[in-house]
Amino acid sequence: MKAKGTSGSAPGKHRGSGKSGAAGRAGNSAGNRGKAKEVPAWMADLPVKIGQQVEAEIVGISHDGEGVGRANGFTLFVAGALPGERALVRVEHLKKQYGYAALVELLETSPDRVAPDCLIYEECGGCQLQHLSYEAQLRVKRQQVVDNLVRIGKLENIIVHPTLGMADPWRYRNKAQVPFGEERGGLIGGFYAQGSHRIIDMEACLIQHEANDEVVARVKEIGSRLGIRAYREETGTGLLRHVVVKVGFRTGEIMVVLVTNGADIPRVDEWVAGIREALPAVKSICHNINVRQTNVIFGDETRVLWGSEVIYDYIGDVKFAISARSFFQVNPVQTEVLYGKALEYAALTGGETVVDAYCGIGTISLFLAQRAGQVYGVEIVEEAISDARKNAALNGMMNVHFEAGPAEVVLPEWTRQGVRPDVIVVDPPRKGCDPALLATILELRPRRVVYVSCSASTLARDLRVLVDGGYGVAEVTPVDMFPHTVHVESVALLVR
Ligand code: SAH
Repeated sequence: MKAKGTSGSAPGKHRGSGKSGAAGRAGNSAGNRGKAKEVPAWMADLPVKIGQQVEAEIVGISHDGEGVGRANGFTLFVAGALPGERALVRVEHLKKQYGYAALVELLETSPDRVAPDCLIYEECGGCQLQHLSYEAQLRVKRQQVVDNLVRIGKLENIIVHPTLGMADPWRYRNKAQVPFGEERGGLIGGFYAQGSHRIIDMEACLIQHEANDEVVARVKEIGSRLGIRAYREETGTGLLRHVVVKVGFRTGEIMVVLVTNGADIPRVDEWVAGIREALPAVKSICHNINVRQTNVIFGDETRVLWGSEVIYDYIGDVKFAISARSFFQVNPVQTEVLYGKALEYAALTGGETVVDAYCGIGTISLFLAQRAGQVYGVEIVEEAISDARKNAALNGMMNVHFEAGPAEVVLPEWTRQGVRPDVIVVDPPRKGCDPALLATILELRPRRVVYVSCSASTLARDLRVLVDGGYGVAEVTPVDMFPHTVHVESVALLVR
């Protein structure tokens, strides 16, 4: 339900007074749409009309960060409006149950409204909540968890703690994937304008580690000087597609990956020398080749141009090797908070058998292995399991076992082999746990289940299943892994 998708001209996130040029443009497109199409009967019966300006009371915030408004008793999503505000909006797009409207003017402003710090917040699609104070963001995220538990899980009266936020919610990301383009004969790199693939040049991204801005600036400068051409999506020509920057927060090590359309980089030695000279913290310069016409950033072939194949970072006391392609949590500071909560909920005393389903590169498994007897991690991506094994070896951890495969298949196999977990941790993707996995958990009846979730709706759905199967939800803690964006992460503790 994105206004961005349904109407190219709706102001994405509204800053300030509500009188912007974007709202003016929105009017034209709504008008055209009205004229071009005959109004169907159901639409004519709605209490609002396309193109109409109405007053809306903003009563909530959607999971996309849009204000949820009520106008003439009808629900309108209003990008840029905040709960508690009253606004004049222009109706742009209608469905039977709800519609989308552009913010024309704020009539009453929320005390939680703040001026976004980022200069390109309006154009960029990366953050959605910078116009909301950080305190309020944390409240909103907790409320979304509560609402999902009640609406989807029919789980009332669950203890949901305040969202654990960051003391300094800026510059928290350790990985940037920056698309490159050209303008006036030089390289530009930044982000895609909302709802398009037009690249807008960027000097700073306030949620990325500072090193990212520096690396991107130097790569642009050196690449432009060497006459490197940027890839053009429409024609499939040009060379440089993306620059991927990874930073080890604790170690300070930096990896730069040049993703190119083609195997040869002209004057590559000069480029490497230029990057090394300008950026001494760079420990690894890699080259990934992607000649396919696709939105996927990486191609299959990666080689090291200079330095190490990996950089290192820590989550707590556990060391991780990060390669060009390997997955690593993007907010290392909050990952420690999240896993700390998972560890607390697991209540390990040293002898337990723990299963970590959906383990990725083993981050949670290794974190838990510090306090457990045995940890079994399962993950569907083979490469991730190979990284997980390397990370276990890197930390000298002998009490972890990793297996590649679907968790819902591997867990029953382990059971047949006699593995009896005291605690099962799950950290599934957005679509939640496979029903077969939940069924196996209910058969195995571990003392505790710790559910780490990046989607409050599937969390609520799955908790319902576990509750119906005899577990109680002891408590839930939301953790803010992605300040200024709409993403909500949480950890739930279930006990038998
Ligand atoms: N716990 C890890 C990663 C969690 S992301 C961390 O914190 O870093 C969810 C993971 O589930 C992804 O790595 C994805 O590849 C994996 N996955 C998806 N479906 C799966 C399945 N059916 N069985 C096992 N793993 C699966």
